[in-house]
Amino acid sequence: MRPVIDHLRCTDCESCLSLFPHIFHRNEDTGLIEVMDLPEYALEEVGQAISMCPADCIEWQKT
Ligand code: SF4
Repeated sequence: MRPVIDHLRCTDCESCLSLFPHIFHRNEDTGLIEVMDLPEYALEEVGQAISMCPADCIEWQKT
């Protein structure tokens, strides 16, 4: 499982980025906020990011 961002809904508010900069980053090429490629993701931290995302656009995806 890994978190993914629906960029059609993301408002670029940077909340996820400021709270969890070790999970989310801005892709300098596309300008979009993306999920870093990590070997594993902390359930609690991603859960917090999902909860506080104002656009409700972060979700778990099966890998
Ligand atoms: S918290 Fe949600 S809306 Fe805000 S930048 Fe992150 S993914 Fe986009």
